[in-house]
Amino acid sequence: MIRTTARRAPAPVDLTSLHFGASFVEELPGDPETRNVPRAVRNACYTKVAPTPVRAPRLLAWSDAAGELLGVSRPDSPTGIAAEVLAGNRVLPGMQPYSARYGGHQFGNWAGQLGDGRAITLGEVSGADGARYDLQLKGAGLTPYSRTADGRAVLRSSVREFLCSEAMHFLGVPTTRALSLAATGEAVVRDMFYDGNSREEPGAVVCRVAPSFVRFGNFEILAAAGETDALARLADYVLRHHYPELGSPGPATYARWFEEVCRRTAILAVEWMRVGFVHGVLNTDNMSILGLTIDYGPYGFLEGFDPRWTPNTTDAHGRRYCYGNQPAIAQWNLARLANAIYPLVNDKEALEQALARFSDTYEREAGRMMAAKLGLDSLDRDGDDALLARLIEWMARVETDVTLFFRLLAAVPVDAGDIEESRLVEPLARAFYSRDAWSPEHLPRIAGWLRGYAARVRAAGRPDAERIRDMNRVNPKYVPRNYLAQLAIDALDAGDASVIERLMAVLERPYDEQPAHDALADRRPEWARQRPGCSALSCSS
Ligand code: AMP
Ligand code: MG
Repeated sequence: MIRTTARRAPAPVDLTSLHFGASFVEELPGDPETRNVPRAVRNACYTKVAPTPVRAPRLLAWSDAAGELLGVSRPDSPTGIAAEVLAGNRVLPGMQPYSARYGGHQFGNWAGQLGDGRAITLGEVSGADGARYDLQLKGAGLTPYSRTADGRAVLRSSVREFLCSEAMHFLGVPTTRALSLAATGEAVVRDMFYDGNSREEPGAVVCRVAPSFVRFGNFEILAAAGETDALARLADYVLRHHYPELGSPGPATYARWFEEVCRRTAILAVEWMRVGFVHGVLNTDNMSILGLTIDYGPYGFLEGFDPRWTPNTTDAHGRRYCYGNQPAIAQWNLARLANAIYPLVNDKEALEQALARFSDTYEREAGRMMAAKLGLDSLDRDGDDALLARLIEWMARVETDVTLFFRLLAAVPVDAGDIEESRLVEPLARAFYSRDAWSPEHLPRIAGWLRGYAARVRAAGRPDAERIRDMNRVNPKYVPRNYLAQLAIDALDAGDASVIERLMAVLERPYDEQPAHDALADRRPEWARQRPGCSALSCSS
C-alpha cells in the first residue's frame, strides 16, 4: 500500500469546538482598572472588556474561505450558538476578550488616545496553515476607548468591510480577513451625511480575522505616554509572535524589525496601486504592524483614472489620502512609527536607513508591477518612460476605467498592421465612460499610444499568448466596486442575501473570466455616479 506523508488539514469543526488562546492578554501589561466607561487608560496595552449582548443575533453572511483557514465549518443555523458568539452574546471557554489601547496621527495631527472603541478581540486560534489568528468583533459595544461614540457599527459599513476584506485576499493583497457578518437586531443612529439628519439604521457585527490587529498607533500611544517598559514589551511580543526570524530582542533587532515593517508596507502600497484600491483614511491607527490592509471604512476602487481621487468625502478638500498620495502617506506614517520606537533603538541613523528601505522597495516593486500590468518584463528600455507618461496623460483626459482598461489591453491586437484609428481603439470601448475617446481631439492620441505600445510589445518578442496570460494574472477583471457593494447592502437590507453571496463567489476568482458574471465587471453605471455609497462615502459607519 502506498503511504502518503502529506499533511492533511483536520476536518473542520464547529466554532464552539475550537481551542482559544489569549497570548496578548497573558503576555502583555493590562489595564488594572476594569470599569467599562470611556476614559484615559495608562500603563497598559489593553483593557479586558466583554462584548455587550445584542437583542437578536443572526448570521447574514459567512466566508467559507476564512472558515477553511480557521478549520471551522459554516454554522448550520443562522441563529444558533455560533451566531451568539459572533454577535457578542456569548463568550466561549478560553476566550479573554479585550480592547487594545492605541493612539494615532489623524490627518497629520497627533490625536492622543483612540483605541478599540468598538472592536473586541475574543481570542486566538490555530489556523489550518499552522499560524495563529485573532478573532475580533467589530461593532461589539462600548469599551473604555469608545470616547463619545456608541461602540456599534451599521450594516452598510459592515457589509463593506466583510466583502472587501475577503475580496482583497483573493486579489492577492495583504489584508485582515473576515469570517462572518451578523445582524444585531438593534438599530443604530447615524447622521450619514453629517447634515443634522440622524436616522436609525440596522446594526451589525463583523468577525475579523488576522494574525494580529496591532497598529502603528499601539506603539505611538506608549511612546507618547513615556511608558517605555510597556513599549518594549509590546515590541518584544510582536517580534516573538510575528517576526521570530529576526532573532532575540535588542536595539539592532528592533531596527531590523522596523526595516522589515518598511519593506512590507512598501509592498502593500504597491499592491494597492496595482488594483486601484484607495483606503480613504490612512491615519497611523489604521496602519498594521504586519503590513496588512486594515480597517475598511470609506474605501474605494479607482474607476475613472484620477490620481487625486478619494472616495472619502471628509477628505475631499485636502485629498491627503487620495489614490496617488498613498505611498507617500504610508512612508510618513512609518516615520511616526520610527519616532515611537526610537527609545528602543536609540540610533537615528539606523532608523533613517530603514526608512529608506521603503523608498527603494517601493520604487523597484512599483516599476515591476507597472511593467507586469502592461505585459512587459521591464520598463527600462529607451522610450519606456515616455510610453508610460503618455498613457497617464491621455487617461487623465478621457475618463477611463483603469480596471477595465488594463484587462482589455491584453486583448488589443499587437500586430494589427495599418488599421483605422477608430477600429484600433474599439477593443477598449468598455473601459471608456463616454464616446470622448473617439473625438477628433482624443482618438489620434489614444490610437497613437496603442501603436507605440504594440510596437514595444513586439520588440519584447514574447509569445503573445504568454503575455495575455500573465497580464490577466495581475490585472483583475472583478473588483468590489462601491456600487456593487451598495447593491449588496440594499438587497441585504431588504432581507435578500443572494446579491452578496453571488458577489462573494465571483470575487473569489477575480482574475478568471467567469462569463456568466460578466455584468459584475462593468464600469460604474451612470445612476451610481452621484448616489451616496456608490462612489463617494462619508466616514459615518
Ligand atoms: P476609524 O476612523 O474607524 O479608524 O476609527 C477611529 C477611532 O474611532 C477608533 O478608535 C475607533 O475605535 C473609534 N470609533 C469609530 N467608530 C466608533 C463607534 N461607533 N463607537 C466607538 N468608537 C468608534
Ligand atoms: Mg480605525
